[in-house]
Amino acid sequence: MAKDNPRVAILGIHLESNRFAPVTTGADFRAACYFEGEAIMAEALKAAPAMPAEIPGFVQAMNKAGPWQPVPILLTSCEPGGPIEAGFFRECLAKIRAGLTTELPFDAVYISNHGAMTATDGPDPDGELYALVREIAGPKTPVIATIDLHANISERMVDSADAIISYRTNPHVDQRERAADAADFIRRRLAGETWAKAFIRLPIVAPSVTLLSARGGYCDAINAGQAMLGPDLPLVSAVGGFVYGDIPKNGMSIIAYGKAEQAAAAARTLAGQLWAERERFLVHLLPLRSAIERAVAAGRVAGPPVLCLADCADNPGGGGRGNATDLLEGLIQAKAERVLMGNFVDAAVASQCHAAGIGAKIEVTFNADNADDFGRRVPAKIEVLGLSAGRVVGRRGVAAGRAQNLGPAAAVRLGDITMTVISRRVQCADPMHFETFGLAIPDYRTLVVKSRGHFRAGFDEFFRDEQITEVDARGLTSQVLANFDFRHLPRPVYPLDLDTAWTPPTSVLRP
Ligand SMILES: [Zn+2]
Repeated sequence: MAKDNPRVAILGIHLESNRFAPVTTGADFRAACYFEGEAIMAEALKAAPAMPAEIPGFVQAMNKAGPWQPVPILLTSCEPGGPIEAGFFRECLAKIRAGLTTELPFDAVYISNHGAMTATDGPDPDGELYALVREIAGPKTPVIATIDLHANISERMVDSADAIISYRTNPHVDQRERAADAADFIRRRLAGETWAKAFIRLPIVAPSVTLLSARGGYCDAINAGQAMLGPDLPLVSAVGGFVYGDIPKNGMSIIAYGKAEQAAAAARTLAGQLWAERERFLVHLLPLRSAIERAVAAGRVAGPPVLCLADCADNPGGGGRGNATDLLEGLIQAKAERVLMGNFVDAAVASQCHAAGIGAKIEVTFNADNADDFGRRVPAKIEVLGLSAGRVVGRRGVAAGRAQNLGPAAAVRLGDITMTVISRRVQCADPMHFETFGLAIPDYRTLVVKSRGHFRAGFDEFFRDEQITEVDARGLTSQVLANFDFRHLPRPVYPLDLDTAWTPPTSVLRP
């Protein structure tokens, strides 16, 4: 084994699964991000890679630290959606098994996953992937993983990896840094370091708007964990979880690595802190009617943008379809003015706009063929302001420097509402989604985004925190957990069961 020139396998399957959303198919993954072998490295080295930022981040960090030999296996990723189709997942596992087996012996494995995936045939495909990697790598080869902080961690994941490193920012702007940490931990393991693991899952399923890293109970737990770090405790993650997975392993969790005593103490302290402050995970949303009134009032006055409404219940970044109409219908009926809204997902309307051309005034029906309880049919007279193939490179926040594919897209005007209509489900988290059409955000008073929280990092140059409001509209990512028919969560669980009782377990170390 060449520890000063290690062969490091790279692989991952990224999906955040919302049980209430339609199944995520192999075709969805292939249309979004799917690479095998050397194609992974070729994409990672592009100026604007169309892949999770961890991969280019990891490659860069490994290059910087010294000689190594990448062994790229398989990397695929998709917008959040329903559980992964079992057939496609099994196909990926088989390819990963074959790829790793062919490449033996390798010195280490880097897994880049989201960590909140479910499959149509099981609740823990991430754990299955980690276990497969461990099986082939053997007990001594370092296996280091990075995950999204919305991951639902299983014991199987913890037991199979030497270390799991979670993002620490929400909006997620530290993906590259955490991947660089993974590169560092691989080098340290190769140099002989080992760590005991402590893991605690709490009976808290926090609505995602309460999991920001800039303020609140979750922010405090992340910071407390980082303040504990030292030579005997090199890594602590407070993982927020993703409630819409609706599986038994749902829940916030703490994973700590280091000397056994320190790791266990850190995990117990942080879990105790989160539990003691659990009321900070209750949501406070603005009712839909009040949101519309605020937008109407804002539009009547001249001046720069003053109001940003987050349609957090219809966030494609959490499995939402991007076609819910509570806000759109409300704003149309109230004749709101100087509103900019994005992104409404309707491939049929985008296509009609492309056929009609810029400047055309046409009658369309939003959700003509796919109406449901949240996304109703909305007939409208629109003017086509702009057309685009939908290929953008993010300029700010979570998508900065990354290639995004919105699919055929249009900017349209209905009354005094200007809206982007796109064909693929991409959450509105980057100003480029508007600027690609020549739309300038400062020309509007109210911005409405179909995004839960990542928009905050993209639009912070236009809106201060106090100008941003999370709206209680309806959709597949509603923050009101009582709106869902959860069937597989561990119960009792807070805040669904407000009288849940719990104390941190005494035995928290994992093998
Ligand atoms: Zn996330």
